[in-house]
Amino acid sequence: MKMLIKNAKVLTMTGEPIEKQEIGIENDRIAFVGNAPDGYEADVVFEGEGHLAMPGLVNAHTHSSMSLLRNYADDLPFWEWLTEKVWPIEEKMGPDEIYWGTMLSNAEMIKSGITAYADMYFYSAETAKASVEAGLRCSIAQGLIGSSAKDKEKLDVTRQLFQDWHMTGDELITVMAGPHAPYTCDDAFLTKVIELCSELNIPIHTHLSESEKEVKDSLEKHGRSPIQHMHHLGMFNHHTLAAHCVHLLDEDFDILRENKVHVVHNPSSNLKLGNGISPVSRLLSSGVRVSIGTDGSSSNNNLNMFEEIHLTALLAKGSTHDPAVVPAYQALEMATKNGAEALNLGTEIGMIQPGMKADIILVDLEQPHLYPHYQLDASLVYSAQASDVRTVIINGKIVMEKGELKTIDLEKTYHEIRRITKMLVD
Ligand SMILES: [Zn+2]
Repeated sequence: MKMLIKNAKVLTMTGEPIEKQEIGIENDRIAFVGNAPDGYEADVVFEGEGHLAMPGLVNAHTHSSMSLLRNYADDLPFWEWLTEKVWPIEEKMGPDEIYWGTMLSNAEMIKSGITAYADMYFYSAETAKASVEAGLRCSIAQGLIGSSAKDKEKLDVTRQLFQDWHMTGDELITVMAGPHAPYTCDDAFLTKVIELCSELNIPIHTHLSESEKEVKDSLEKHGRSPIQHMHHLGMFNHHTLAAHCVHLLDEDFDILRENKVHVVHNPSSNLKLGNGISPVSRLLSSGVRVSIGTDGSSSNNNLNMFEEIHLTALLAKGSTHDPAVVPAYQALEMATKNGAEALNLGTEIGMIQPGMKADIILVDLEQPHLYPHYQLDASLVYSAQASDVRTVIINGKIVMEKGELKTIDLEKTYHEIRRITKMLVD
């Protein structure tokens, strides 16, 4: 299968200027960027006039099935929200609920230009199944909450996920271990999880230093911040994707940089839950790798990466009183290249470059809020809307064309969501 995108302005994210170029796709990979070879015959030709082609956005931290809890419990303190609202309703969720919650989120993510995401939740096999059907790239992690007494069964779920799903669905699915957070896993259990990562050679996806209370409790209990404590336990010997990192001690910055921890910034969720603003500008200038996520729809309440990119740039400027920090291109890097690296897919996605996987979105530039077209990286960060994404290609397959989803039956999904949410809140 050969595809050609013609006449689009191309933002490759390789540092090259944005200019009109042709992009050739053969099967699942990008064959060329520039001019098509003489006599090149494509099976499918996209007319890209008036559009910008760019790498698909990477949502580096979410809980996709939490779309089932969207606008269910809002405006509450973090601990009350989590323990009194979220956890009790999650008790009622089984595989069917997770499948349809994921499918709803997959539709939302594709429509807003997300082509890959890192997920942490439970019944993760259902998340993998729905993602393969939707054609969306996903790194799954079964959320692990545990104490040393009853850990084996929980670790076996991750082992089974790895055997059943890792690099399946045309390599759309990869598997990580998902210890929820230092405050929900004891040290003995975390040590077992770290051992499992060594055994399977898989990365870790976790939450770190999200709230002030978490850091205060950790200092009281261990004499160390959550980041210092995870370092002490050996977590960072593995590729680690650490969501949040809002409340940081001075020493934490060095630990995160030296151990190449992938911090995922979730600005909407941190703001909405009253957890604060991550010091992203300082993290970046300290040499820490930072990407962007939406977190779940229960604390955001959408999966709109354009909104998160916009907030990332604005919050960094506002919180440092410096409008020059996190310029537009850097914010886009966080949502593409850095996200790809966080998912351990830095050599495969995140840029438009020959040999890489064809995860490409086309953004409609012919919109009043995007005119005139001076600096298109600034247009994307400060002016674009998720609804400007018109066409989405993942792994060389068209999953949305001119705004129409090709892989997901939205009406059926809505029907199932109505059925499930009725049961959940009964
Ligand atoms: Zn989260």
